[in-house]
Amino acid sequence: MKTEFDILIIGAGLVGLTTALACADSGAKVALLDRAALGLGKDSRASALAATSLRLFENLGVEITSHLQPIHDMLVTDGAPNSPWQLHFGDTQDAGSLGAIIANTDLKAALLQRVAETQAIQPFAPIKVENFTERAGHIIVDTDQGELTAQLLIAADGRESMTRHKAGITSQRFDYDAASLVTTLSHELPHEGLAWQRMIKGGALAVLPLPGQHSQIVWSGPTAGIKAAEALDEADFLALLSEKMGGYLGAMQCTAPRRSYALRLQVADRFHKGRIALVGDAAHSIHPLAGQGLNLGLRDAAALADGVKTSVETGQDIGIAALLDYDLWRNIDTRSLGLLTHVMAQNSGNDRAVIGHVRRLGLALTNRATPLKSALEKHASGQGREVPNLMR
Ligand SMILES: Cc1cc2nc3c(=O)[nH]c(=O)nc-3n(C[C@H](O)[C@H](O)[C@H](O)COP(=O)(O)OP(=O)(O)OC[C@H]3O[C@@H](n4cnc5c(N)ncnc54)[C@H](O)[C@@H]3O)c2cc1C
Repeated sequence: MKTEFDILIIGAGLVGLTTALACADSGAKVALLDRAALGLGKDSRASALAATSLRLFENLGVEITSHLQPIHDMLVTDGAPNSPWQLHFGDTQDAGSLGAIIANTDLKAALLQRVAETQAIQPFAPIKVENFTERAGHIIVDTDQGELTAQLLIAADGRESMTRHKAGITSQRFDYDAASLVTTLSHELPHEGLAWQRMIKGGALAVLPLPGQHSQIVWSGPTAGIKAAEALDEADFLALLSEKMGGYLGAMQCTAPRRSYALRLQVADRFHKGRIALVGDAAHSIHPLAGQGLNLGLRDAAALADGVKTSVETGQDIGIAALLDYDLWRNIDTRSLGLLTHVMAQNSGNDRAVIGHVRRLGLALTNRATPLKSALEKHASGQGREVPNLMR
């Protein structure tokens, strides 16, 4: 096999699939490679999608509307559930501005469906990528099924990215010695679209509303405590959880197994090199406290697609022209969000009295300072910076 494409994408996770659709929509012929067969996998997480990410899926014809739970309200408290130290965002001024939650398997199913309908995307999965080289204005990828060539190679192969390592792109890495425990609940009382987060000693507990009387739990904290919570029997786990939530959802049951994820801040030193570009967790992995890692990866996909569209329309080499502004565009967004989530994570883990007091005061003051609050709202909705075409 020797097949030519405009773009090769390694990794068909949520970001790789979206990048393939965005590049095909921009006029490119795309090969999408994954070491595993294309399927839903075992991801029991849900994702908070910013308004700009929702617009991207709409523009790409990805049918997710019936799986979305819009966020009507967002509450962040520090300390006890009824603490006066809180930050509150209501979805009153601009309906939909707080985004929506979707189960990752529902999002992936919709993306796979759209990829299957798109003629300009050819999947190769499972496939083993053995090596790649740049030669004569092309990138040549050797696989266990033969050679594939393209003008541009996009790495979407996750935070341990083989492509990033082989391309010699270094990254800065900080391991938190913290983990997030994730599960899904069904509950007695309606959530009314409230996304609830409580900063607790050593981390944060987030309860994200899903369609119906279901919610996703993301409980982040020091690894030892999270592992202990993961090992509890279900009744003890639910009792502990309910106590931390002040029982606001009434009686609860787990509807998915508990899984934990080790947390890391990792940002590549550059987002492209030669004809290779990084997107998603291959480029950056951030603390899930603000629920922004996937949104960041989707902005990579949409920004890259802008460059691809211009290259296709002007007949330029995609492997060069599409990347001209990519680093510039993605650098500030990624590094500022990485820093913001890092400061939040480090502070939520800090129980020294003076720091706890400053943090609680900051939350209460931000709640009263309208311009600062709306700046935070804009950041969460993905509108705090220049927006790529596919997100408008
Ligand atoms: C607990 C938790 C909660 C989160 N909540 C949110 C949230 O609410 N909102 C949000 O925006 N983000 C959230 N995130 C972040 C988000 O889940 C990730 O940023 C996102 O899933 C990354 O997707 P990806 O496609 O880049 O990488 P991955 O999902 O890791 O996909 C990588 C793909 O590449 C393939 N692959 C790997 N290596 C190779 C290889 N050598 N050859 C071929 N294929 C390969 C894999 O099989 C896989 O399909 C959360 C993260 C965690 C840990």
